[in-house]
Amino acid sequence: MKSWNELGYEIQRVISNTVIAPGSYILKFKKNQPFTAGQVLALGVSKDIEPRLYSIASAESDELISILYSERTDGKLTPMLSLLKPGDNIMVSQPFGTFTQVKPSPVFIAAGTGIAPFISMLQSGKARNATLIHGAPYPEYFYFSEYLMNTLGEHYIRCCSRCAPGCLFVGRVTHFIKQWDSLDINKPYYLCGSTEMVVETRDLLISRGVPVNSINAEIYF
Ligand SMILES: Cc1cc2nc3c(=O)[nH]c(=O)nc-3n(C[C@H](O)[C@H](O)[C@H](O)COP(=O)(O)OP(=O)(O)OC[C@H]3O[C@@H](n4cnc5c(N)ncnc54)[C@H](O)[C@@H]3O)c2cc1C
Repeated sequence: MKSWNELGYEIQRVISNTVIAPGSYILKFKKNQPFTAGQVLALGVSKDIEPRLYSIASAESDELISILYSERTDGKLTPMLSLLKPGDNIMVSQPFGTFTQVKPSPVFIAAGTGIAPFISMLQSGKARNATLIHGAPYPEYFYFSEYLMNTLGEHYIRCCSRCAPGCLFVGRVTHFIKQWDSLDINKPYYLCGSTEMVVETRDLLISRGVPVNSINAEIYF
C-alpha cells in the first residue's frame, strides 16, 4: 500500500457519519472529483496511520461521496473514523481502482461491507438485470436492504448466517451457492469481501461450471 505522500490527498469536511447498524456507519463528504462506480478512495485522519481503502457506495451522479464502513475495535483507523462529527476534517485520496467493468446480467456476491461497490454500480445504472447475493450474520447488517428489495425484487438474496429460520436463507453465501438451482454458468460473477470468502466462493463457482474468466473479485482484507 502506498504512503500518504505517494498517494496524495485533500482535506474534506465530514458532512455526516451515521450509525446504520451496531458498529456500522455511513460517512458522507463532498465529492470533488468524478469517479467510476466500483472505485475506491484512501481515507485517513492523520499521516501517522497508513492509508486505508474504502469502496465508494454512492451513485456517480451524487454530489456527496458515501462510504460504508464497519468499526474494527482492534483496528487502527475505524475506531477513529467512528468518532468523526460533521465539520471534522478527513484525508481523502483521489478515486482509483479497476473493479469497474460490469457486463450485462451480472451476479454480485458480497459479504458484509463488500456490498458497497455493488450499491454504487446499481445506483449509477451500470448493472442491468443484476442479481445480488449478500451475506451477513444478522438481519440488521443487510445494508441498503429496502433499496435492494425495491430495485431487485426476487433477484436480491440475503444469506443470514446466524438467523433463526424465517424468510431469509439461513447460512453463509457459500452454502447458498452450493444448492442454488438457478445458478447460470453463462453469467458474469463479481465477488467482494474477505480473502477467505472470495477464494471459497470462487472455487465453488468453478466447481459448479462457471469459467474462471467469468469471475471478477475485489478483496478487502
Ligand atoms: C480495495 C479495498 C476496499 C475496501 N473497502 C472497504 C469498505 O468499503 N468498507 C470497509 O469497512 N472496509 C473496506 N476495506 C477494508 C479497510 O481498508 C480497512 O482494512 C478496514 O476498515 C479496517 O481498518 P482498521 O484500520 O480499523 O483496521 P486494521 O488495523 O487495518 O486491521 C485490524 C484487523 O481487522 C481485520 N479486518 C479489517 N477489515 C475487516 C473487516 N471488514 N471485517 C473483518 N476483519 C477485518 C484486519 O485483517 C486486521 O486483522 C477495503 C479494503 C480494500 C483493500
